[in-house]
This record gives sequence, C-alpha cells and structure tokens, in this order.
Amino acid sequence: MTAFVVPPAPAAAVPVKGGGQFPVRRVFCVGRNYAEHAREMGGDPTREPPFFFTKPADAVTLSPEIRLDRVSQMLEYEGELVVAIGKGGADIDAAEALDHVYGYSVGCDLTRRDLQGQAKKAGRPWDMAKGFDLSAPIAPIVPAAAIGHPKTGALTLKLNGEIRQNGDIGQMTWPVPDIIAFLSKFVALAPGDLIYTGTPAGVGKLVAGDRVEIEVEGVAKLAFTMI
Ligand code: MN
Repeated sequence: MTAFVVPPAPAAAVPVKGGGQFPVRRVFCVGRNYAEHAREMGGDPTREPPFFFTKPADAVTLSPEIRLDRVSQMLEYEGELVVAIGKGGADIDAAEALDHVYGYSVGCDLTRRDLQGQAKKAGRPWDMAKGFDLSAPIAPIVPAAAIGHPKTGALTLKLNGEIRQNGDIGQMTWPVPDIIAFLSKFVALAPGDLIYTGTPAGVGKLVAGDRVEIEVEGVAKLAFTMI
C-alpha cells in the first residue's frame, strides 16, 4: 500500500454508554418531522414524505463549548432524538427497521437560520446553513440492548434553565421505522450512520454565554455552552 499524501482525518466517533466508541460514517437529518415546528417554519404539517439533508461526520461533537461564528447572526438550536445505525441495508422494510438500530442519543441540529432562509429564497443548497463545523453536538450513545426502542418520551430543551422546547418523540410525523424505510430508499444505510430525527416547536436563537440542555426522557441528556 502506498502512503497517504496528506494526513488522513481521524475517525469521527461518539462514546457509547457502558463502553466502546461508535464510529460515525455519515450524518443524516430529517426536516420538519413535528407538525408544530413545520408550522413555525411556515410549512404545511400534513404527512408529506420526509425529506433529508446531511452534515459531515466530523460535524459531530461532544465539546462542552461551542463557539459562535461570524458568518451567521442567527444561530439556532434544534433539540432532537438521534438514531445510531448498527446494521446496514437498502430498501429496508419499516417492520424490520428497528433491527438496524444500534442505539439512540440526544443531539442538537445547530442551524444558521439566516443563511438557511437566504438559501430557501434563492433555491440554493442548505449545506452552509446546516453542515458546518461542530454543527452536530451529541451526547454519548445508549445501546438499544440497554433501553429498548423508545416510541414515546418527553423531548425537552432548556435555554439558561428555561424550557424552550417541550415535545415528545411520540409526536414525530414520521417515526423512526418510517424514517429508516424512506432514507434507505435513497441511500444504502451502513453501520456508523447517524440520523437526527427532527425537532419539535420552539426553536430559537443562541448568543454567547447561553447554556443549552437537551433531554429525551429515558434516553440521554446533552449540555453545552455557547462562547
Ligand atoms: Mn433539525
């Protein structure tokens, strides 16, 4: 084998509660998967097929501090349940989809809302509004072997101790098995893929010093500070 001509990127990974590391392959995100959030974004909350966007694997971070950048004046939080894929497959049947799940976590789909708005208006891609460096904070992954496959559970986000998002993962327009079934029609899923499953209503802007705490009841907690 010939040598790499530049240093290869270190593998992105998320620690697993109870031991080990989950190697991150790709990060998929579901858009508008809670009716109230679809409404607050100016959309139609009817059960249209889910749509997806991506973030780079190394956007995933366990850093306790996230630095605000200069290109956006409106960085927003989106608290979400995250699904970690353990077994790959294409055209996965919803009835068998949970067999492909290794575990779950809690994540934040950080969004440059101003850039996203400009991109929507101009019919341009969302990549620089969604897939930037450290745009995917996550908590350690909890194996399904330990907690099962949660279908309901409060999803709450506190900003500086005040509740801003107060949903339930049972309110998803497309629950986890359907998300996996749809997504695996577009791409063959593989071990290491993460899926951020969408956010409930109540998204909002972050400023320096903000403390963000996100919890999915019975799954995990995530906390970080904006600097
Ligand atoms: Mn989101």
